[in-house]
Amino acid sequence: MMEGAVKSAFEIGTARAAAGETSVGVLKVAVAMDAREVTIPVGIVHGARPGPVVLVEGGLHGIEIATVEICRLLKERIVPANLAGTLVLAPQVNPWAFLASSRFTPHDSLDMNRVFPGAEGGTLTHQVARVVTRELLNRADVVIDCHSCNPPSLHFTIVGEEGNAETQRRSVELAKAFGYPVVCANTAYSGTLSGYCLEQGKPTITPEFVFSRRFDRTSVETGVTGVLNVLKHLNMLDGAIEPLDVAGAFGDVLAYRSIGATNGGFCFLEQECGVSVKAGDTLAVLRDFWGRETERILAPQDGIVIAYPLQGNQAAGSGDKVAYLAYRMD
Ligand SMILES: [Zn+2]
Repeated sequence: MMEGAVKSAFEIGTARAAAGETSVGVLKVAVAMDAREVTIPVGIVHGARPGPVVLVEGGLHGIEIATVEICRLLKERIVPANLAGTLVLAPQVNPWAFLASSRFTPHDSLDMNRVFPGAEGGTLTHQVARVVTRELLNRADVVIDCHSCNPPSLHFTIVGEEGNAETQRRSVELAKAFGYPVVCANTAYSGTLSGYCLEQGKPTITPEFVFSRRFDRTSVETGVTGVLNVLKHLNMLDGAIEPLDVAGAFGDVLAYRSIGATNGGFCFLEQECGVSVKAGDTLAVLRDFWGRETERILAPQDGIVIAYPLQGNQAAGSGDKVAYLAYRMD
């Protein structure tokens, strides 16, 4: 638990909130080559009563901006006098990627969600991740790590496979409380923010909103309600958990896998997200300029298509992700 979470003030960067107060400020994460300090925005809603520290962060991938609106609305709506514990808001933790409208940090072409816990003396992305780890992750008891897929995609929440059984159990409970359908990752990428937090024993969930680059009304509204649901689940706020009304939702906790391309081409989607498919069904067809089929992406097993996570244009080269398939765990 956070040391002396309530009663004493909570400070991050220039934000400082006494118990029962809300404060916003900035946290220095690096210095640019013209000697200007580069900062990220931080907000603190510091409850009047004791309780856990929950961090909501987003924007590791610079095009995934839903967290900006979600954090702004959470700061407006939560009255700190009614809160037990502390909510920390960090809506945009990778400012260079955002300024470049890119998923990656332009200076070193790195994906910030592959470098945690970061490194002093590493390249820019490592150094920013190090500050995020020290000032935000290590001070939180629970982490809500916000990301987005472009459509077509369901709204869903991922629980990573790292951490012990108790951390996993608590994370799945938080993900269910949030309210989107829940999928557990079966293959870990190294260096993810969520993986680091889970390994530290912090319950962590990764909601995937719909639309990069845009403020999607459904994502913002359900994202705010989902965070409030988590706070209620943790007894930090009073009130009943509100179910989220999102398309294609399923009740069971499923596993999911990513299915990628081997041959490249323009990508034509053959399924709606949320539908059940059988092993061998076509998920997508890749074609060359003149329509010649270069590859057929098949479902490797029965499951539900939850997203077509194409990261750029509607096309995929060797190794690029084409579809996410959720399936029942044995
Ligand atoms: Zn992301």
